[in-house]
Amino acid sequence: MDQRDPRRRIPRTDELLALDELRSALDELGEAAVSALVRRTQQRARDGEITPEQVRQELLTELESLRVCSLRPVLNATGVIIHTNLGRAPLSPAAARAVAEASGYVDVELDLVSGARAQRGAGARRALLEACPVAEDALIVNNGAAALVLATTALASGAEVIISRGELIEIGAGFRLPDLIASTGARLHEVGTTNRTHPADYAEAIGPQTGCLLKVHPSNFRVQGFTSSVDLAELAPLTRQAGVPLIADLGSGLLTADPLLPEEPDATTALSAGAELVIASGDKLLGGPQAGILLGCKELIAQLARHPLARAVRADKLALAALEATLRGPQPPVRRALHADPARLRDRTAALAAQLEVPVLTHDGRVGGGGAPGHPLAGWALKLPVAAAPLLRTGEPAVLPRVHDDACLVDLRCVPEEDDQRLLLAVQTAIGNLPRN
Ligand SMILES: *Cc1c(COP(=O)(O)O)cnc(C)c1O
Repeated sequence: MDQRDPRRRIPRTDELLALDELRSALDELGEAAVSALVRRTQQRARDGEITPEQVRQELLTELESLRVCSLRPVLNATGVIIHTNLGRAPLSPAAARAVAEASGYVDVELDLVSGARAQRGAGARRALLEACPVAEDALIVNNGAAALVLATTALASGAEVIISRGELIEIGAGFRLPDLIASTGARLHEVGTTNRTHPADYAEAIGPQTGCLLKVHPSNFRVQGFTSSVDLAELAPLTRQAGVPLIADLGSGLLTADPLLPEEPDATTALSAGAELVIASGDKLLGGPQAGILLGCKELIAQLARHPLARAVRADKLALAALEATLRGPQPPVRRALHADPARLRDRTAALAAQLEVPVLTHDGRVGGGGAPGHPLAGWALKLPVAAAPLLRTGEPAVLPRVHDDACLVDLRCVPEEDDQRLLLAVQTAIGNLPRN
């Protein structure tokens, strides 16, 4: 190379990797990722895209945007508590700490005293049984859908699942319960009609070909008017006499009744009414990690746990840690948002509105995630110009507002109070960047 070739001035790899400013990046991102970025930046200088003198600064700028994980934390200002697109339930600080601790080697399947292998996730199982003492046993799997697949596979593969036509639901994004059940090799035996199903419909359907009877909580819609369904207490004598397992897919994950959501089913009530197995999600109203929770009679839980499919849907150690900490620790964010004190919510909203000089509207929050459909949670929202929405979403921190009626609404229900100041700054920045006209 010619002595005067500017490419000779490109800083060497070892020089760049030795920069003080790179030390924390090397810790966080790893040597391979940082080295690759160094080489790419040197190459840009060789290609004449930047000067050799710019290499160092370009490298540092690029490093800022390089992250090991592309997921970005978002302030949920929609008022929707269980927001599917935002990962449903946020973990409590206690659960987040438990996850961090469980991320290394942990005794998830080991008895440290004897050194022998132990039941996987025994702590989470115990916490569930303490929170729902009417259940004889519990099994934790990957998610609610996996729990349903495991139950129908183990109890009804090659046999029939009796289900009301009013409960053949699509849960979200094309996820249809009947398709899921059919995929297990069980046959659906539909009874009743969309709006009305009677005890006699079930009684006639039960026979030697029956694997189980399934009640599904139609969690994301309501049928109103001329309707009739059969509740668990009415079904239990039928199924008990026939020796057929009665399963209730509750969806939401309430372990005990919540007076604020009178129509939302809960595991304690369902089991007390005679369900032998209930299925619920860990990351809906329970407020924990993604998990599928099975609670109920010992024999059925044992049958499910023994099935080969159980291994394919088992919960990971991080979910087990988070679930136990959610159950044993302080109120998770989902419960806090659900039971937010209206006066406090109003004061927080008014305080931000005064500083921002924007109007406040009454705004109903929602449970979301398919829970408690049509159940409004009275609250308030800041009203901003609709053009603020994309600026908020792409700001730092990212804020997801609700866009409604050509306005950008910021609802504080799901924003932790300690984040109010960050939210204020984010909104101020967005308003400051609004296109002027
Ligand atoms: C949400 C839901 C499921 C699926 O649970 P995931 O945890 O999302 O897999 C199944 N049944 C009902 C009634 C639900 O509401």
